[in-house]
Amino acid sequence: MIYLDHNATTEPALEVIGEMVDALERAWANPSSMHAPGQAARSLLADARARVARFLGCAGAELVFTSGATESNHMAIEGALKARAAEGRTRLVLSAVEHPGLMALATRLEAQGVPVSRIPVDRQGRVDLAAAQALMGTDVAIVSVMGANNETGVLMPLAELAALAHGCGAWLHADATQLVGKARLNFASSGVDLLSVSAHKLHGPKGVGALLIRKGLALPALLGGRQERQRRGGTENTPGIAGFAAACDRAAQTLDDDLARMAALRDRLQAELLRTLPAVQVYGAQVPRLPNTLCVRFGPLHSDPVLGKLERAGVMVSSGAACTAAGTAPSHVLLAMGETPEQAQSGIRFSLGRDTTAADIEATVAGVHRAVGPMLADAGFTVP
Ligand code: PLP
Repeated sequence: MIYLDHNATTEPALEVIGEMVDALERAWANPSSMHAPGQAARSLLADARARVARFLGCAGAELVFTSGATESNHMAIEGALKARAAEGRTRLVLSAVEHPGLMALATRLEAQGVPVSRIPVDRQGRVDLAAAQALMGTDVAIVSVMGANNETGVLMPLAELAALAHGCGAWLHADATQLVGKARLNFASSGVDLLSVSAHKLHGPKGVGALLIRKGLALPALLGGRQERQRRGGTENTPGIAGFAAACDRAAQTLDDDLARMAALRDRLQAELLRTLPAVQVYGAQVPRLPNTLCVRFGPLHSDPVLGKLERAGVMVSSGAACTAAGTAPSHVLLAMGETPEQAQSGIRFSLGRDTTAADIEATVAGVHRAVGPMLADAGFTVP
């Protein structure tokens, strides 16, 4: 089996499993308890916070552990809207290609009366900065744009967006879930005010992540309770947090090499598919992208049968399109990039990991040929 679905999730690293088991066995007490076992759990938490903060380039006091990026996104946006309402800042500005969880939050807020503006993207999937500028105003509480898109891997211009948001007094939130382990990330120099991350995209456990909150920003808590400096109530997920820290340490050791290796392998996969199959369209290839992501369309082929055939050929990948009870909905990302609804149901995402090898890529190319070649031939294309 070749697993090229690392943008969906990654396999927990051995170090991660080791630290989690250790935390469960030896630091299972409540970190809020005053007794010695509680203090042991508290010191595990402090150590993990320092390690995660080092990896992300923030101060420990700027980091709030959460249950993952979805919660972090909610906390940032709902918190900012609450915090800034008294200044007359009530509007949310977000890109048209955010993660479905964040898009759904914006739709819900809009139904509750919050003014919401969506920044369009260009044909490559990058936010349109001129359009973003036109949407800024003194009524904007928060601008939310992801660091990299989960379907196409396209990187968003966060520094420019920070300048635009700050120019009108708004905060900038970045859902950086797809950046961790696939780009160098430094919160301190990013210009971003609020940043969401998740451990499971980084060979860490699921159900744990963080929201980074720039020092001095008064963000109200969504969950009551004294934990996390009263910013996020609930007994801390100490094993998950320990695993997150282990994942960060492990990623930091090899990040530069990993980025270079994944980019070379992704480029090879892209070149081989383009060279050997007809009608392959690559999304986002003209702009900076994550080094591990390749999003393509094979002519007119719908993603569902392609995914099924690829799985039978031993290649595990994903489509960007969301599965609903009514069938597969077109990808909102590809639609926003100007694709037709049919084309937007055809995206296939290959996402490599740090352990992907050249042999995996060769086998993937062969698997794609076996799976997709006959389908393209049936659709009238000449397949060499
Ligand atoms: N944001 C982006 C860009 C993602 O890719 C994902 C994961 O699929 C999420 C948010 C959700 O993260 P989590 O599973 O930690 O809630």
